[in-house]
Amino acid sequence: MTSRSYCVVGGGISGLTAAYRLRVAAGDDATIALFDPGDRLGGVLRTERVGGRLTDVGAEAFVLRRPEVPALLAELGLSGRQLGTTGARPLIYSQRELHPLPSDTVVGIPSSSTSMAGLVDDATLARIDAEPGRPFSWQPGSDPAVADLVADRFGEQVVARSVDPLLSGVYAGSAATIGLRAAAPTVAAALDRGAACLTDAVRQGLPPSTGAPVFGALDGGYQVLLDELVRRSRLEWVRAAVTKVEPGWLVHDATGARRHADAVILAIPAPRVTRLVDGLAPRTFAAASRVVSASSAVVALAVPRETPFPECSGVLVASGESLHAKAITLSSRKWGMRGDTQLLRLSFGRFGDAPENSAVRASDDELRAWAVDDLATVFGVAVEPVDIRVQRWIEAMPQYGPGHADLVAEVRAGLPPGLAVAGSYLDGIGVPACIGAAGRAVATVAP
Ligand SMILES: Cc1cc2nc3c(=O)[nH]c(=O)nc-3n(C[C@H](O)[C@H](O)[C@H](O)COP(=O)(O)OP(=O)(O)OC[C@H]3O[C@@H](n4cnc5c(N)ncnc54)[C@H](O)[C@@H]3O)c2cc1C
Repeated sequence: MTSRSYCVVGGGISGLTAAYRLRVAAGDDATIALFDPGDRLGGVLRTERVGGRLTDVGAEAFVLRRPEVPALLAELGLSGRQLGTTGARPLIYSQRELHPLPSDTVVGIPSSSTSMAGLVDDATLARIDAEPGRPFSWQPGSDPAVADLVADRFGEQVVARSVDPLLSGVYAGSAATIGLRAAAPTVAAALDRGAACLTDAVRQGLPPSTGAPVFGALDGGYQVLLDELVRRSRLEWVRAAVTKVEPGWLVHDATGARRHADAVILAIPAPRVTRLVDGLAPRTFAAASRVVSASSAVVALAVPRETPFPECSGVLVASGESLHAKAITLSSRKWGMRGDTQLLRLSFGRFGDAPENSAVRASDDELRAWAVDDLATVFGVAVEPVDIRVQRWIEAMPQYGPGHADLVAEVRAGLPPGLAVAGSYLDGIGVPACIGAAGRAVATVAP
């Protein structure tokens, strides 16, 4: 068999996983060129030293309910590096107070009024209790914005104070910009099966409570995984952006060089995909053009160990609060790290932010000041960072709006043979879904 050659466009977790899976599928002789113009590989996965300690300043965790990351770590011999959360839970900041994170919800959508007590007013609690008695109609297969359904059944307070904080953490979006099927697939499935009302569907859609940690992370940060994927895939890193892809396949990069390949995987965000498939795959172009994305910024701080934060893993912020941050992670508490300092992260930026509150427009100095101010407001502590780092992620968080699955089916259906896509706008925004989508892309082009 003649050796095959592949081009992977994009060196984030999607592209690196694709390169590794191509190596496994195509064997030692295959040529795998990976294009990325960055000064490092990893895309949104970035591990840096803050206060002398390695910390992730992009994604920092992965959900353990999905199998992809633990399975990949096991395959790469890295299971020993997997960390679990300590059991500390996040709080919700709403109405200028801290509240326990409601239990027995699916992305904040309640299965009863019990866990919402204290977070929403009495009228809303009564409305949740009365929901099963109200007429309910559901079109199987439909995909409303989460906000539309939840506000209709439970009221605006549940949206703003319980659902938005969770969805803004995951998507930098809100219940208004995310479809039910992406946000809460088990709830949508229960409704399709004929659940009597939303409360009933949430009850059916609750994950089994095993007591096991919900999130994992890597000792040494995501860099550990990135390094191993690079090593095992034996990819050739072409440090340039791809500017054009021609059928057959010919890949042009920004230096003017061209390279032939038997197949190409585009592992780049949707807005970049549209530039490369314009004229080549019209259906894919049209569908990918409909994906909109949010930008965010992470401010990572190291603060003196004795800084008196409450017992929690962090704080999710309700919408409408007069804070800049959308979430605070007390990383040292969350992962049980010891040391002379505590590490924490604040995340900024929601889809549709007003310009004056935009994480993209704010200067680094403003973001640092917002972080310190928000910590004082939320915890009542004056924080004196010993180190602080600002990291921006522009248009890095695709919004899974209503009907997203149909859009993705259209993206894939429009691809000619030999061209595949991977990335966070396809089957889920998180690292596990990116790993899954990369494997799926390789399966369509590998021998
Ligand atoms: C702040 C933040 C926090 C997050 N936290 C979590 C978390 O805790 N857990 C979780 O599971 N997920 C999290 N996510 C989501 C997850 O990190 C991302 O969805 C995922 O890392 C995206 O990986 P990717 O490879 O698809 O894309 P990216 O990481 O965006 O990589 C794409 C790469 O393509 C390159 N590129 C772009 N255009 C071209 C071109 N024309 N030619 C060549 N290369 C190109 C870019 O330089 C980039 O390196 C977070 C995301 C953000 C932004």
